Amino acid sequence: MAFAALAVAVALVAFPRLEEFFQIQAGLRGKETLRLTVEGLNGALRRYEPLPGLIAERPVLAEVLMAPDDPELLRRVNEELRLTAERLKASDVYLMDTTGLTIAASSYRKELSFVGRNFGYRPYFTQAVEGGLGRFFALGITSGQRGYFYAFPVEVDRRIVGVVAVKFLVAPFEDAWRGGDHWVIVEDLNGVVFMSSDPRWHFRTLRPLSAEDRERIEAVRQYPVERMELLPTTVSPLRDDIALTSIEVDEEDGGRRQFISSTLSIHDAGWDVTILIPTERAHTQALGAVSILALLIMLLGFGAAFYLQRRAQLLERIAVQRAATETLETRIAERTVDLKQANDKLVGEVRERRDAENRLRQTQTELIQAGKLAALGQMSAALSHEFNQPLAAVKSYADNAVRFLERGRSGEARENIRRISAMADRMASISKHLRNFARRPQEKVRPVELVPVMNDALAILQGRLEASRVDVRLVLPEDPAWVTGGHIRLQQVIVNLLNNALDAMEGQASPVIEVELARAGERWSLRIRDHGPGIDQETIGKIFDPFFTTKTPGRGLGLGLSISYNIIRDFGGRLLAQNHDQNGAVFCLELQAAQVETPALEAQETAAE
Ligand code: ADP
Repeated sequence: MAFAALAVAVALVAFPRLEEFFQIQAGLRGKETLRLTVEGLNGALRRYEPLPGLIAERPVLAEVLMAPDDPELLRRVNEELRLTAERLKASDVYLMDTTGLTIAASSYRKELSFVGRNFGYRPYFTQAVEGGLGRFFALGITSGQRGYFYAFPVEVDRRIVGVVAVKFLVAPFEDAWRGGDHWVIVEDLNGVVFMSSDPRWHFRTLRPLSAEDRERIEAVRQYPVERMELLPTTVSPLRDDIALTSIEVDEEDGGRRQFISSTLSIHDAGWDVTILIPTERAHTQALGAVSILALLIMLLGFGAAFYLQRRAQLLERIAVQRAATETLETRIAERTVDLKQANDKLVGEVRERRDAENRLRQTQTELIQAGKLAALGQMSAALSHEFNQPLAAVKSYADNAVRFLERGRSGEARENIRRISAMADRMASISKHLRNFARRPQEKVRPVELVPVMNDALAILQGRLEASRVDVRLVLPEDPAWVTGGHIRLQQVIVNLLNNALDAMEGQASPVIEVELARAGERWSLRIRDHGPGIDQETIGKIFDPFFTTKTPGRGLGLGLSISYNIIRDFGGRLLAQNHDQNGAVFCLELQAAQVETPALEAQETAAE
């Protein structure tokens, strides 16, 4: 809004200056046009000026002036003048005697012929008859056309006998001036317009005419006096010789009209030539320029407003961003404090946990130690029981053997020594079991075929099986049952399970053991069922504990199932105990099936163990 007001203010201030500038520019261009116009006019005047002098030199003119009644001579001169006028493109060429009477003229054939007319009152005649060059501008009396007249005396022996006059019309010049965007006015010394591109201005006076001048003009019949009215003008100078001239034109044209004017004088003729350029164009140009200026200011204003608005928006956005950043920073700082506290808490908790872990480990170590001590106590008790009983027996058999030998009863003595030896064997057996319990195999597990292992176990127990008349019923698969394990240790487990089965069925008339080997998914399962009393519920949870036994001292150590359990676990398998629905116990040995390419591996495995 402010910019619009500024634009209007600048336009108002600048418009008059711009208009003046364009007016001066138009004036300068007009001056150039005026110079050309004046040169053209001057050139024409100069061209016609010497003509009457040249024509006057023709002898025939003097002849006819001396004999004005010679019709033949008059006819010849008339024709000559007509041809001359035609050649010179002059309006008229005519010859007057010393009174001003025309005796021959180029227009002799025309209706309005000059012949017989007297121009003695015309200044050009009087100037010439006095011996000089006559010149005059006037409205033709005969023709009614405006013309410029030159006249020169015809002399015979330095005596003036007549005058030759040449008239040319000025209308063709005016025709040349029309068509441009300017007007031309030619005024004489009295300020009478006698030439103008606008015919309405002809014979108007640019300044008031004195009565004297008016009378003089009337006397020589130069202009039609009735048309010589004042043409009101006002002139205000612009620059140099350029002025603003307003001229009252006819009402049809809308009263007064303003022009940019410039004037040049033709001194010889005593004329002032003025060029008039309408101001409208300069006005329009100024308007255009001022509009562009106003538009530019508005554009600049809008640009500036846009820039300022963008700048304000940008600053606002920066402020918002800064505020957001500050908020964020504050929040980060708060969060950092929170995090630090949380971290400190966590560090504290970790420390506490580590302490707790250490304490736990300590407790565990202590517990293990206590467990070990308990196990050691348990074992010591069992071992002392196991060893004390045969040792007591060995002691009594040895004492008895000594007594039998002293009495010479060698047979009884031998029997006692044999029993001592049997006791020693039993103690060796206990020791071997203990070693197995303590020992941990170093070898890695390998693929082992289970059927040969089982056959070996049966072979080891063959003596006992036969003595007990046990019916061993085997259900074996067609495919070889490769499992992951060790040959000797598996054999040890199977022997153990079979021994337990035999123990359970002791005293039975026809004991039966059912052995079934079958594939169960990724495993092989070996089930050994006896027909003994089974395992009661109280016992079944403890049978895998070391040294748990229900057997009488000397019959069982309670280590067999414990060792077996550990062996199978080492092979990644399972050993399960349960009672059969009908009778007896079922021990189920599950082992992972092994992928085997060559059976030679089994031999290697056996050798390694
Ligand atoms: P031991 O044979 O020296 O007693 P084990 O560890 O081999 O030691 O067996 C532990 C106990 O498990 C046995 O004393 C017995 O009570 C029970 N047991 C083992 N096998 C059987 C079975 N086939 N039938 C019934 N009870 C069994």
